[in-house]
Amino acid sequence: MERRKFIGKAALAVGAAGLAVGCTSPAGKAPGAVTSPRVKWRLASSFPRSLDTIYGAAEIFANRVKAMTDGRFDIRVFPAGELFGGLEVMDEIESGAVEVGHSASYYFKGKNPAFVFNCAVPFGLDARQQMAWVSSAGGREVMAGLFADHNIVHFPGGNTGVQMGGWFRREIKSLTDLQGLKMRIPGLGGEVMTRLGATVQVLPGGEIYPALERGAIDATEWVGPYDDEKLGFHRVAKNYYYPGWWEPGPGLSFYINKGAWEKLPPSYQAVVSAASEEAAKWMLTEYDAKNPPALKRLLAGGVTLRPFSDDVMIKAKEETHILLEEQAAADPTYKKIYDHWSKFRAESAAWLSTAELTYSNFVAKNS
Ligand code: CA
Repeated sequence: MERRKFIGKAALAVGAAGLAVGCTSPAGKAPGAVTSPRVKWRLASSFPRSLDTIYGAAEIFANRVKAMTDGRFDIRVFPAGELFGGLEVMDEIESGAVEVGHSASYYFKGKNPAFVFNCAVPFGLDARQQMAWVSSAGGREVMAGLFADHNIVHFPGGNTGVQMGGWFRREIKSLTDLQGLKMRIPGLGGEVMTRLGATVQVLPGGEIYPALERGAIDATEWVGPYDDEKLGFHRVAKNYYYPGWWEPGPGLSFYINKGAWEKLPPSYQAVVSAASEEAAKWMLTEYDAKNPPALKRLLAGGVTLRPFSDDVMIKAKEETHILLEEQAAADPTYKKIYDHWSKFRAESAAWLSTAELTYSNFVAKNS
């Protein structure tokens, strides 16, 4: 209230001096025509409303932008399918059809395989490492050229944490049990699973449950306990495997059309940056709060937790390494990003496996 009074007096003083009278706002409001324009954007999410933690981060972002600009910067959020399909988000931001998108960069590996590093790579970074690489260790900068090629400025947009390995109708005791196994698993994880002998299928969210129920697929991955429970996989497949080594810390992103970004005043650009960081943090803390009770409910309902066997994990890691090296050899841009990412991964692992991992392991075994 005190601040409003002060600004009101300041505006009157400017008016009295005969300057910029046309810019003064009604009594008690800051002069706003120049520095606080009214801006309306649309945000296209790649996700359905039902994924309330992932989709919800876009709503947190929009709400914070609106609140921090006294309602003058208004972003309306649309779930996948309302404006266009979830996988068309990058094209539509590039063309400027909408100003901002919320998506997972590995969806766009067909445009350039190196987009996966902005999201998730099998045996790659966990959530904390991914956020550190992107926000503090130069990852955002090293990826920026790839996004600029698509007319996009990108910001952090959340993380799910390490995902689960998914739901299997039968127990997987060793690599042998993966031979010919029909599994729904998209992306690079799917490519590695194929190399391990599985028959990989990519099905959209709504088609997975019926396929698993009638045995058209033997297994599926999704996200983690909180999201998986809503789709009901535990009713038709009781073996819940971990970890989801193909998505150890998938980072989501906000994509902003470069032209729209450059039209924003610096204060609004700062608001967008702050709101994206808040939304990104929110998603991870939501998952960390909602997954534990969801897992407890699933276990109470008769689900059996099973870790992947060592031979599956080791072979999957070897095949991932071969795949990444093949892609790096084929493309210098990919190699530059891969080298930067690999160096961070090695250094980060050496540090985090010292105090953090020792502490976590001790607590896990003694709690
Ligand atoms: Ca997944």
